[in-house]
Amino acid sequence: MKKEFYEDVVMNCAELLSRAHTVEAEENKEAVREAGKELHFGGLEMKRLDAEGKSVIQSICFMKPENVDRSRVKEFCYKEEDGVTAVYTVYPLAGQDEWNERALKWLNFFVMQLHEANERQNLVQDANYYRYHDPQTKHTNMAYFSECCDFYIKNKIVDRYTAISVNLSDFTNLNLLIGSSNCDTVLIRYMDWLKEGLEDDEVVSRISGDQFALLIRKEHEEMILEKLRSSDIVYGTHTNDVVTVSAEAGIYRLSKDVESHHNIIQAISNALNVAKNSVQLQFSYYDPLSADATEKKKFYEEAFEKALANENIHVFFQPKVSLKDYDLIGAEALSRWIVNDEVIPPDSFIPILEETTRICELDFYVLDHVCKSIHSWIRHGVKPVKVSVNFSRRHLSNKNLVQDIVQVLDKYEVPHQYIEIELTETTIDADFEALKRVVYGLREYGIESSVDDFGMGYSSLSLIRDVPFKVLKIDKSFLGDKNMESDERQRAMMKHVISMANDLGMECIAEGVENMEHVQLLKENKCYMAQGFLFNKPVPQEEFEEILMQS
Ligand code: C2E
Ligand code: MG
Ligand code: MG
Repeated sequence: MKKEFYEDVVMNCAELLSRAHTVEAEENKEAVREAGKELHFGGLEMKRLDAEGKSVIQSICFMKPENVDRSRVKEFCYKEEDGVTAVYTVYPLAGQDEWNERALKWLNFFVMQLHEANERQNLVQDANYYRYHDPQTKHTNMAYFSECCDFYIKNKIVDRYTAISVNLSDFTNLNLLIGSSNCDTVLIRYMDWLKEGLEDDEVVSRISGDQFALLIRKEHEEMILEKLRSSDIVYGTHTNDVVTVSAEAGIYRLSKDVESHHNIIQAISNALNVAKNSVQLQFSYYDPLSADATEKKKFYEEAFEKALANENIHVFFQPKVSLKDYDLIGAEALSRWIVNDEVIPPDSFIPILEETTRICELDFYVLDHVCKSIHSWIRHGVKPVKVSVNFSRRHLSNKNLVQDIVQVLDKYEVPHQYIEIELTETTIDADFEALKRVVYGLREYGIESSVDDFGMGYSSLSLIRDVPFKVLKIDKSFLGDKNMESDERQRAMMKHVISMANDLGMECIAEGVENMEHVQLLKENKCYMAQGFLFNKPVPQEEFEEILMQS
């Protein structure tokens, strides 16, 4: 027999053996018949026997002849791992004489090669298995999800699918509640449950601890979302071993123009983040507009570090005036990001920085800048006014916040009465306690605080009752438009808020004062401090210094 042909036969047989359960029997027979023609045998069988030699673990048979004369059957055994033995049985051709020595030698050689090839196939299969499966849940993994996406993209059928990134809600707490081993069971059963009713081409992959990536047919989207809303998962044998699992999800209905799995993963992760950061949304759909927002966000985050280092973030000052004599009584420091001579207003970048603690760097940068300026005014014989600096609620988790602030003031020897810290109201209880601690702490050092934008959020009266703010900054929405009925109610409320603040010994300042009607209204309600475009817009430092010197 020619060498190449022989190797082909061996490889063919090995391949068929390893995929026997998926290949049509007729096909198997064909390959074995080919091999048999050269090697003169009638059939081939492979079994795997366990350590006791009894129970059959796997058995494949090609062309087992009927009425076999057992004495002429040849068996070849190979030990595998864990006491398993692979047994190859070769059946003679019908009516064949005894195997001669030469035929037996070939057969021996053939089966040995076949077994080796078979082993190699198993190794490849094992390697493939671990490449595409998560060892803990035995479900598929990220690599599998990614390759399926690419496969569907290449075959131009990706628009039949929806990709979903799933994050189990509160899984950390569930671990504490029922223990990690029960949680492992929940994970597996949950994934089994998600897969129920899906077809073979659909994917439920685990991509990290409690996160999954799904690729499902569009017509199954509603069914899956229903399961994600809330599912009861049984993890034990008792009737009450049940937990209710719900999940947040980022959803992307794929279209033909998706380019690679990278885009899909990026898109569903972004959508998932939106859902995770939202109080109301459990599911969030990826859409190109929010993709623009993501691009914008990435741009600002990356550029921010550089902007701080290069001092491209400027501190503007907006004067505060007394409504009794229109004298300058203070200022608010506001950030302006200047890129190529273009001024980017804080509303474009503050919310992005506020998603991380980068906002804290900005606030301290502004405080540092303000203190440096006050130091320089004092040195040049100019009497400073009190400057307020906005501090994000993000700072509240900093246990050293008060000390950190005091340190900046002291570095520039700024008398503490010249700085005011503006904090916005909060409805979160944990924040509320921290807020109280900070305001008390600052007051001990002689630094006053103000509630910014009072009336914007869900203002709580206990906030101004329990936290010793010195100043209440009334949000511009209170002034409203005098022609609108709803604003009538706003103004009625403003009146009461001002009188309450006055009764509590707090100072009141109105923001967004744009015209004399506003001034009139404030005076009628006994609010005598204001900040707004009627007097000045926020101005660069040099311009503010001129205003300061004139006063
Ligand atoms: P805010 O602290 O309430 O600042 C007042 C905002 O109202 C400023 O907007 C100011 O320009 C604007 N304003 C002042 N007078 C008028 C007026 O008469 N009419 C109208 N329509 N608006 C007026 P700006 O500078 O765009 O700042 C927006 C917000 O960004 C600030 O609101 C503050 O919450 C935040 N912010 C600005 N700089 C910083 C900062 O350095 N750190 C932090 N944490 N937040 C900052
Ligand atoms: Mg403010
Ligand atoms: Mg404000």
